[in-house]
Amino acid sequence: MPIGWAYYGDFQSPPKGGGQVIPEWLSYLVNYYQNDVFINCGVEKILLKNNNATGLLFKHRGEVHEVKARHIIAACDVETLYNKMLPPAVLSEKLRTRMQDADIYSSSLTISVALDCHPGQLGFNEELIHISNNEASIEEHSGGDPLKSEMVVLTPSLRDPSLAPEGCGTLTIFMPAYMSFKDGWLTTKDEQGNYIRNEDYRHLKNEIAEVLIDRLSKIIAPDLRAHILFYDVATPVTHWRYTGNKNGTMMGAKPGRENMKNKVAHYQTPISNLLVGGQWAELGGGVPIAVKAGTNAALMILQKENPKAFRLLADYMDARITAEDFEAAAIFKAYDHSWQAKPTPAERKRN
Ligand SMILES: Cc1cc2nc3c(=O)[nH]c(=O)nc-3n(C[C@H](O)[C@H](O)[C@H](O)COP(=O)(O)OP(=O)(O)OC[C@H]3O[C@@H](n4cnc5c(N)ncnc54)[C@H](O)[C@@H]3O)c2cc1C
Repeated sequence: MPIGWAYYGDFQSPPKGGGQVIPEWLSYLVNYYQNDVFINCGVEKILLKNNNATGLLFKHRGEVHEVKARHIIAACDVETLYNKMLPPAVLSEKLRTRMQDADIYSSSLTISVALDCHPGQLGFNEELIHISNNEASIEEHSGGDPLKSEMVVLTPSLRDPSLAPEGCGTLTIFMPAYMSFKDGWLTTKDEQGNYIRNEDYRHLKNEIAEVLIDRLSKIIAPDLRAHILFYDVATPVTHWRYTGNKNGTMMGAKPGRENMKNKVAHYQTPISNLLVGGQWAELGGGVPIAVKAGTNAALMILQKENPKAFRLLADYMDARITAEDFEAAAIFKAYDHSWQAKPTPAERKRN
């Protein structure tokens, strides 16, 4: 995946081992400094006292736990934050409506394909390929119809062979897609508003994947079908299930006049010690924006809690000092650079 949609050369490519290496590395660092990472924990409520957040409640395997906190950074979907985790009175109706009506990016139909050969054998190279239908209008290129939509194709294992077992390869095919398609992709909903995936849903997503694979075979790789070991299809429902982002949007709110005018993006919430710190804090989304937002939110807390540390980190972020200057100041705890990447699943299989 090209971080920040940088299509040129190796600029901003993920590290060897793919995107999964980034959370592995971050998790190692958090543990290194003897802090905790809790996974599979859904935050349900932010606890408040006099317009201050005092902590939160989260659910893990059906059990509710409480965490006390001086500061909270919400790096999740912003409507979930306001509509589910906080009492309605926290946000004015005007702001809530603005957020609800914000112009957001599409979601994606994402097909992850396992090949029994090297992708180069089928004619692919390391480029990120855009395929568009000349007979479709500009709107139709991102309209969600698999026959007319633009497709984007990547060959992750060609750029990084550690991602596939010897003699095999991977392909990823994307198409812009929307939750509104066939009324939530033919799913139904339970009482809590969760999407229930049924046979119709599975049939529909595979039917669309087949159309895209047909288009790709015709245009670029006539032998593609014969080399597919298996494929997995993610829809807007899948992207929503894993991230909680509204309608499975890929990158949150779009940069543009209306969203700017309506101040959709914000770090500071009406609760003084509760910040937004993921892609929703800014317009534009993508990994670089999420990283920027997380960094800014952390800086805003440091500014209050430890001005010296704030100054040093802000100077480093603004490229006023080097990494060596940063370390020499010895304000932050030292790090011995001990992280080592684990073998990828494909490498483990090979070994
Ligand atoms: C198919 C697809 C392709 C993309 N391609 C690219 C690309 O090529 N380049 C690029 O730069 N960007 C790409 N993006 C966008 C990029 O992935 C996002 O912009 C980025 O991941 C946003 O990071 P984030 O940390 O702000 O939020 P997210 O990655 O959405 O993470 C939010 C996290 O919050 C958790 N969460 C949600 N609700 C709760 C709760 N109640 N309690 C606890 N945890 C909760 C979720 O489980 C999730 O882990 C793509 C996105 C998609 C879907």
